[in-house]
Amino acid sequence: MTIILDGKKLANEIIEDLKNLTVKLEKKPKLAVILAGNDVASEIYVRNKQNKAKYIGFDSVVIPLDNDISEENMLEQIHILNEDENINAILVQLPLPEHINKQRVLEAIDPLKDVDGFTSYNFGRLALGYKSLVVPCTPKGIIRLLQKYNIQIEGKNVLVIGRSNIVGKPIAILLQSQNATVTIAHSKTNNLKELARNSDIIISAIGKYHFIKKDFIKKNAIVIDVGINRTKNSLAGDVDFEEVAPLCSYITPVPGGIGPMTIAMLMENTYELYKYQVNQLK
Ligand code: NDP
Repeated sequence: MTIILDGKKLANEIIEDLKNLTVKLEKKPKLAVILAGNDVASEIYVRNKQNKAKYIGFDSVVIPLDNDISEENMLEQIHILNEDENINAILVQLPLPEHINKQRVLEAIDPLKDVDGFTSYNFGRLALGYKSLVVPCTPKGIIRLLQKYNIQIEGKNVLVIGRSNIVGKPIAILLQSQNATVTIAHSKTNNLKELARNSDIIISAIGKYHFIKKDFIKKNAIVIDVGINRTKNSLAGDVDFEEVAPLCSYITPVPGGIGPMTIAMLMENTYELYKYQVNQLK
């Protein structure tokens, strides 16, 4: 029997818990989102994030920047947010306009307000296995969902497909720290199908519509589909759910799997940064 990992349900529980915690606070956590350019998907993501923050009772602000904003002006914006005592968490929505150096921009965020955990300070601590202030939202959401369903990670052979800084690399680090044996695959990997067929858990973060087919899957494997691919009418994952699901013990749907978990973790990180900053002031 295949069990669907219901990210939407768990995300809603986390959001409700945060709402109950926030209502008791006199001063509310505040999230600032920088949205540069006019990427339609980014606008939708930012709107969803803002709506969730509002529902929980957080304060939030979106700073829209023109597509042709200079890098210096963008850095200045981040500096202003870093200095603003009312802002607890800063998110720079990716992708950035092409002429902007992403690394410089992300590195400019105060690590204490780095809600995505993408600064080298926070990512470095994660990689070194130190106690982290924040863990990147998507990988954190994947681990939380596995834990919710009591899925054992220790000793499992895990294949992470994709090596981006926001998903592939950090999820591989987290899984390894929980004693999984992790392989990271990418576009230059030769024997992907064979690696997949030998894996207990497959995490796909590629961004290719229905790339993972049934011949990638070992019987009773656990499949986590991070991919978001826009189709004519809806969203679809990297995994061909219809043909892959019957072979799995557990699988995430798209939509309703890792997407909502990512937003829930963003909200949780905002709350945790707020708490950390408040305690620092005591
Ligand atoms: P990137 O484009 O940064 O990385 C994609 C990775 O996939 C790269 O490492 C690339 O390899 C690898 N890849 C591409 N094609 C193949 C292939 N044929 N075989 C094996 N590996 C391949 O993407 P992101 O990590 O930012 O995002 C991945 C997907 O996850 C996207 O669909 C994105 O929308 C989605 N996403 C979903 C989130 C959610 O909340 N659910 C959050 C973040 C992302 P190489 O390095 O060699 O180029």
